Amino acid sequence: MRNTPPSQLPWQQPLWQTIAQRLHDDTLPHALLLSGAHGVGKNHLARLLAHALLCRQRGRDALPCGECRDCQLCAAQTHPDFLQVVPHEAGKVISVDQIRGVGQYMALKSHAGGYKVVLISPAEQMNLAAANSLLKTLEEPPSDALLILVSSRAATLTATVRSRCQQLSVARPSQQQALQWLQQEIDGSHDLPLLLTLADGAPLRALQMARDGLPAHRAEMLQQLIQLATGRSDPLAVASKWLKFGHQDSLYWMRTWIEDMIRLRSTSTPPRVINDDIRPQLLDLSAHLTLQQLHTRLDKAIETARLIERQCNAQLLLEDLLIGWAK
Ligand SMILES: [Zn+2]
Repeated sequence: MRNTPPSQLPWQQPLWQTIAQRLHDDTLPHALLLSGAHGVGKNHLARLLAHALLCRQRGRDALPCGECRDCQLCAAQTHPDFLQVVPHEAGKVISVDQIRGVGQYMALKSHAGGYKVVLISPAEQMNLAAANSLLKTLEEPPSDALLILVSSRAATLTATVRSRCQQLSVARPSQQQALQWLQQEIDGSHDLPLLLTLADGAPLRALQMARDGLPAHRAEMLQQLIQLATGRSDPLAVASKWLKFGHQDSLYWMRTWIEDMIRLRSTSTPPRVINDDIRPQLLDLSAHLTLQQLHTRLDKAIETARLIERQCNAQLLLEDLLIGWAK
């Protein structure tokens, strides 16, 4: 199979036109921060831009040609002038050693005599030492180099890093545009509007959820939480099961459930919620809790996710979180 460049996501066309214009005018900054919700296609856009910068015969729309040697190397993920920095393990930190590597990489001359591009994603996973180390590169960027930071939680980046990047925000598509795209990507057996709502309107997250079977995991998790809350299961058993589904996804559902419980309990008119199909179960689960208690549980879920990212024991942390829900 021939390697092809990433195709353009339809809802990113206006943003791409802005980028294309800057490429044409040679006014791209040395550091870009692509921000926006998880699953709107920030990494996709970053790779497309890297690919376009390295292509030798970009089209008028600034899209990569897909034919030249640089395009072929990009598509095979072996282009020597493109470095992608990601956590060694999903959900863990990007270390200071990895960012020092970026500095050394940037100091070298480009292999092809053109641009050098570094993509750091998710940028918020850099620990403080890594972020401080990145500042040196951001302060003295080599010419013909572009650093692309990608983050769905840009506000948590240090202000010094943020202020040295030009921020481009990647928006969610309209529901209609997202559903049209999902229809082409997913077979007919999924409830696409529900899937898109569960993904908080982010199409790539919805696609990934469908591929990973997350709607089924979510239904099982909900049953397990109800069993726990009604004294028919224990936190240790439920934590083990949730760990098998993946702690990030488990905590994502837990967080959205509590957020929806707070929405449902805060207003008498039916609010918009993410987990629209399980309103009655969420109301049941939150029936004996005050709003204050729900907010405390939300904080706990967010803190648990943060601690797991910092390489703490995921099973213990999940058990600790679930003990609060046990009858
Ligand atoms: Zn090309």
